[in-house]
Amino acid sequence: MSTKTVAFFGLGNMGRPMALNLSKAGFRVVGYDVSAACLDAAKALGLEVAKNPLVAVESADFVFSMLPASQHVLDLYGGQNQELLKGIPKQALIVDSSTISPQAAKEVSMMAESQGKAMIDAPVSGGTGGAQAGTLTFMVGGTPQDFERSKALLAPMGKNFFYAGASGSGQIAKVCNNMLLAIHMIGTAEALALGKNLGMDPKVLSEIMSKSSGRNWSLEVYNPYPGVQAGVPASKNYEGGFMVDLMTKDLGLAIEAGLQSQTSLPLGSVARSLYQTLRSAGLGKKDFSVVQTFLNSVS
Ligand code: NAD
Repeated sequence: MSTKTVAFFGLGNMGRPMALNLSKAGFRVVGYDVSAACLDAAKALGLEVAKNPLVAVESADFVFSMLPASQHVLDLYGGQNQELLKGIPKQALIVDSSTISPQAAKEVSMMAESQGKAMIDAPVSGGTGGAQAGTLTFMVGGTPQDFERSKALLAPMGKNFFYAGASGSGQIAKVCNNMLLAIHMIGTAEALALGKNLGMDPKVLSEIMSKSSGRNWSLEVYNPYPGVQAGVPASKNYEGGFMVDLMTKDLGLAIEAGLQSQTSLPLGSVARSLYQTLRSAGLGKKDFSVVQTFLNSVS
């Protein structure tokens, strides 16, 4: 089988280890990032980098992007009169794994289609740990055929691959999941704060609730109270994990999607407001379970 080439845009915290996993799996990876520091870090890992985006896509079988937000993705593919899209070979499959709005994902996919090119949205869950270990979960929006085509590319980077539906559906799944995650994290922290303030040991309370109807992932796998579980961010001064900054961004996407679809999001709105408060308090780089410290002073 001939070596497949991947043009890889966005060599940041997630992109760099993902690109490395592709390279280790035998793909020829041609990376590009607007940050010189990220390009240097990628080169130091032995990755090939291109001097500009057009050179990166020249002989690509796949074009992959892992960028910060909607506007970056719209600019990459739609900027300068869609110059990059025009330069992408017709047979290449475009895969965007950035977390962006479902609307933006659909827009870019339609732009690609108007140039006779196929694009899917494939946001991920699993964080930088999953990116390094190659165990990410991909949620894919696009045609079933393009989902099948993408599997060869996604396999070295992930463990679970879900077909979510038409273009934009991967982002819909991502935005709904992360809004629910924020809500059950806040609810869990609130219940633990109440129990603690009433004189109960958060560890005992967690054990009881984990076997009762309040059970949920934040409580059982990612407990926000320090010392209840070993290895989770709460037991490491809320370092590592999923940053408040990123959760705030994802909740912003949920609110935007709620407005656009006229869906009432009472708890999503409160969650967004709480995480914004944590950012304003200088906790943006902490793990999102740090909301526990806002609800009570942990000891
Ligand atoms: P990051 O900021 O570390 O990396 C993004 C990179 O994209 C940066 O290096 C930036 O310079 C580069 N970039 C911006 N515009 C570009 C362009 N036009 N061409 C090439 N490169 C460009 O962010 P990250 O943590 O790697 O996250 C990437 C995406 O993955 C985001 O959408 C984020 O929400 C999502 N995500 C992140 C995590 C996580 O835990 N970090 C988890 C799940 C999903």
